Amino acid sequence: MESGDLTDRRFVRYRHRLIEDIRATGVDDLEILHLFDRVPRHLFLPEAQWPRAYEDAPIPIGHGQTASQPSLQALYLDVLKLAPTDRVLEIGTGSGFLTALLALTAERVYSVERIRPLSRRARRVLDGLGIQNAALFVGDGSIGWRRFAPYDVIIVSAASPSTPGGLVEQLADGGRMLVPIGTQEAQELVLVRRAGDRTSEERVLDRVSFVPLLGLQGWSEDEAQV
Ligand code: SAH
Repeated sequence: MESGDLTDRRFVRYRHRLIEDIRATGVDDLEILHLFDRVPRHLFLPEAQWPRAYEDAPIPIGHGQTASQPSLQALYLDVLKLAPTDRVLEIGTGSGFLTALLALTAERVYSVERIRPLSRRARRVLDGLGIQNAALFVGDGSIGWRRFAPYDVIIVSAASPSTPGGLVEQLADGGRMLVPIGTQEAQELVLVRRAGDRTSEERVLDRVSFVPLLGLQGWSEDEAQV
């Protein structure tokens, strides 16, 4: 990874403070914490948001969408225990920051976003960082990305009304999926595991708040309250 912006003095201190904030939420895996030092979050956000880029908070990225809270993304990585051989499907590229964290951890990341300008922007930033093992796609990710299935890990970064069945089908044997399930106001973060033809579900967090998953297996645009 090219590191020009990593040495930007204005941000190094903030980045280290963010890592302390993440550690305080209970994630103490050093490899995961180190990822937040390796990937400059500000580059993934609109420049007007750079002063807030290293707050442990969701940040608006335009088009009514938000980049997720870093400590939540750290929890994702902690729960999923990615292996370097894992192939990952991400639904909702958004800023592309989580895409970068995943690409540095897994073998390959396939990331779907329905808003083209967000996907384009994420592509540019990932390219600028020299990240080459992430494939981005514009379309409805609620039905997955069948062409490259099955996936060891699926991360749904938008709120779903129920477990998206099409995505479960694209999980490999032994695969796991994190998905926020609930209403458009509040969701539970659910871990779905697949073993053979059987799936199990476990609640990881009681209350999270994601932007809605819009699409065939999510909400229709008319139903969306955004
Ligand atoms: N992990 C991202 C989260 C972005 S917010 C980040 O931290 O930046 C969730 C994203 O999901 C939004 O960009 C939204 O446009 C996208 N999204 C919603 N429904 C989708 C769908 N059906 N397919 C693909 N992307 C979708």
